[in-house]
Amino acid sequence: MTTHKTDKPLAVLVGAGPGDPGLITADALNWLAQADAVLYDRLANPSFLAGCRSGAELIYVGKGPGAHAMTQEQINELLVKKTGEGKLVVRLKGGDPLIFGRGGEEADALVDAGLPFRIVPGVTAAIAAGACAGIPLTDRRLASTVTFITGHEDPTKDESAINYEALARLDTLVFYMGVGNLPAIAGRLISSGRSADTPVALVQNATLPNQRTVVATLATAAEAAEANKVRPPALLIVGNVVRLRQKLAWKENLPLFGRGVLVTRTREQASKLTDHLTACGANVIECPTIEVHPPADFSGLDKALAEIKSFDWLVLTSPNGVGGLLARMKHLGLDGRNLGAVRIAAVGPATADALNENFLHADLMPETFTTQALGKALAGQVPKGSKVLLARADIATNELPDSLRLAGAEVVEAVAYRTVRPAGLPEDALRALSAGKADWVTFTSSSTAENFLALVKDAGVDLAGLKLASIGPVTTETLVAAGLKPTVEARKHTIPGLVRAILESVAGSRRSPA
Ligand code: SAH
Repeated sequence: MTTHKTDKPLAVLVGAGPGDPGLITADALNWLAQADAVLYDRLANPSFLAGCRSGAELIYVGKGPGAHAMTQEQINELLVKKTGEGKLVVRLKGGDPLIFGRGGEEADALVDAGLPFRIVPGVTAAIAAGACAGIPLTDRRLASTVTFITGHEDPTKDESAINYEALARLDTLVFYMGVGNLPAIAGRLISSGRSADTPVALVQNATLPNQRTVVATLATAAEAAEANKVRPPALLIVGNVVRLRQKLAWKENLPLFGRGVLVTRTREQASKLTDHLTACGANVIECPTIEVHPPADFSGLDKALAEIKSFDWLVLTSPNGVGGLLARMKHLGLDGRNLGAVRIAAVGPATADALNENFLHADLMPETFTTQALGKALAGQVPKGSKVLLARADIATNELPDSLRLAGAEVVEAVAYRTVRPAGLPEDALRALSAGKADWVTFTSSSTAENFLALVKDAGVDLAGLKLASIGPVTTETLVAAGLKPTVEARKHTIPGLVRAILESVAGSRRSPA
């Protein structure tokens, strides 16, 4: 991987790939993280800019609604100007910078200005669409060549630079920017000798959760595009390789493909659930309903930590509890050794993992991952007079401490973190909910359920038709108390368990449509 870190001017033409955040290169992210300025087009994925430094200048130079399109000359000038100021400038483009990206002209301008540049290749849309639509662009049996063509040029124009007679004799053809000229492109290929029966595929939003593929023939392509309302960005793939899709289509067959799923966890905690769901093909919309803040008052936690060696058990009921406790220990200049021989109980694997990441081992974890089960599991381990420290959220039920006290323990409750409801629903979640683009909402705790319902009420959103997935009985109870019935409840109260419950429900409804 490349590093820069000098004050010398440098422009880097960077490919952002076709849209899927997994398909940008490590090098691209590395340059973005260091950039002083980023000149970007309309990106399939705005999340790419999230990793930029807070001081980086982000300049939109693309065309799009509400923006004045800059001419290529203006973009070249801006690129030269910013780089000439001694900056590290990233010029971020969709796909690959040199495939129908005018990166060549930009590099040209930099050379003419005597400025250094580099190019980071990206996954170009054709390669991505082939892979994600299940269409091998070359195949030993069917196609030995593949040609990338711009469909931007009107092929009926006399001065067309594209030799359709030659194209008609080649194997796989991939047209970029061809949706508008589709009737002319297909007509011209047929009149140049390509069989009207040649299979074609239109792949829209390739690699993204809203990818769509329409298969037709050259003769019917324009009609099919019209009927299916194919819109840019889309590619036209022409050739016999399109037939392979029948057997090789995979992305659109993923179990949650095309389904919008809301993740209501905190931003920091969402990624694991998001990754699971995305891997199943879902369109995940992160909708944090909880912000984790440090406690308003540390006195309880500090006192307990000062006496930690007098405790028999330290009980943790969430990764946030682990994070809050350890952050405070760090702040106080303590480390793991200060915990001495205290035994540690974790409610479930996520909490145990959070401990493990910090070189701490959970001595006890219940078989089912609820606080109730944790109370039961601990009950036999706390003979009369044992001291238990419960480090958890400011709002937590009394069930666990009550059951431990009943078993004979002396329980000290300390606030390790505070949960706060955000001011409102994020824009994209609100849009998805109002447009009926959300199919499922996932709840990983009672507080996510409570806060989501409050936020939805504030926003005046109707939940009818939404399917609700609950991680376990306590969360379910909260939903039921609000008059809602979860569609599914995870049998195993973990993130994978929650995903499994959704998958089973979807598979079930596929088998027996209601
Ligand atoms: N430099 C880019 C292409 C820019 S031209 C690259 O290498 O991919 C823009 C065209 O690319 C669009 O009109 C469309 O034809 C195609 N395209 C880009 N992203 C796409 C996507 N995710 N799905 C389908 N086509 C895409």
